[in-house]
Amino acid sequence: MSGRQDRVAGTPTSVVGVPAPALPAPRAELRRPSEADWRAVLDAIGAASSVDLVAHVMPDGDALGSALAVGLALRQRGVEVRVSFGDDPQVVPASLSFLPGQELIVPAADVPERPELMISFDVSDARRLGLLLDKARAARELVVVDHHTSNAGFGTRSLIDPLAPATAVLVDELLRRLGVPLDEPIATCLYAGVASDTGSFRYSATTPATHEFASRLLAAGVRHDTISRQLWDTQSFGFLKVLAAALERAELEPAAAGGRGLVWTWVPWADLLAHGVPPEQIEGLIDVVRKAAEAEVALVLKEDPDGSLRGSSRAKGAVDVAAACGALGGGGHAYAAGFTSHLGVPATVAAFRGALAALVVPPDL
Ligand code: AMP
Ligand code: MN
Ligand code: MN
Repeated sequence: MSGRQDRVAGTPTSVVGVPAPALPAPRAELRRPSEADWRAVLDAIGAASSVDLVAHVMPDGDALGSALAVGLALRQRGVEVRVSFGDDPQVVPASLSFLPGQELIVPAADVPERPELMISFDVSDARRLGLLLDKARAARELVVVDHHTSNAGFGTRSLIDPLAPATAVLVDELLRRLGVPLDEPIATCLYAGVASDTGSFRYSATTPATHEFASRLLAAGVRHDTISRQLWDTQSFGFLKVLAAALERAELEPAAAGGRGLVWTWVPWADLLAHGVPPEQIEGLIDVVRKAAEAEVALVLKEDPDGSLRGSSRAKGAVDVAAACGALGGGGHAYAAGFTSHLGVPATVAAFRGALAALVVPPDL
């Protein structure tokens, strides 16, 4: 038996005792936006009379909040704006229906075949554009605004800052450079973005500058209490039932991830049907599952009607789940990442387990 198998199947404590490796630094080739990058994007926006603002599929508060904030700002300046995302059916999650500017949202089919200027927000790679992929490829200019380390830049111009805790932080800088003041509706959209991605300012990417940003948003009139209730503390009764079934089904694998532990569960499509819960309402389920102290890594597999599984995973700092999800064709951040699988539940969990094992113990040990 190789050392690698020893570690995975053997005494986990010997591995738990090893100090957690530092998370990888943002890749060297990923630099923060330069002055020239900002100027190029401001020039593109200044030259456009029609702009399409696009969030990733199944948008969260950061993706949709960022797109809507820019939509509200450009509308003030007399620009024709549309906000969209490439899901079919295209459903704004109930938890985000409070975001101002909903009237700007159009189905992907209503985005022009060849947009003059498209700007993507929080989209880590082109596949996350869903139905809008071809239109993005055909756009005269495609600006990518994002903070994912894994983003290689798939547009004609980029504002990618892997150190930003949220895309909304980049949008704040963009609006400042455009000379657009933070009014209450714009600030509400940005607050939804930064609060979502920092877990209400709890995650490690939160800095003094993040709190200073939040301070300016509150000064602009943001109702952080109402927003928080809508983002995190409101769910249907049906969701509670789906959650209960998912927790009942949860499995703890202490030996996984080199002894650091994996907790996982899955949600069959039939559960959502039975309780009348739309798929976008279970995005927060991972936040309950990841509480298990015994597991460094948490995984939730969410079944779609076609039997495919959307995987959401989280780590606590010792394992890079973006790398594990990358091995299954997905990506994301070191602490929060995802993938889509067509392998069924047992084989998908086995593949994820294998990816974690390969990460935690180098194969040559
Ligand atoms: P989620 O678990 O859906 O909240 O996603 C966590 C992180 O992983 C987010 O930053 C997503 O952008 C990223 N992510 C989720 N699904 C995928 C995927 N299929 N491909 C690439 N990145 C993903
Ligand atoms: Mn996102
Ligand atoms: Mn984000």
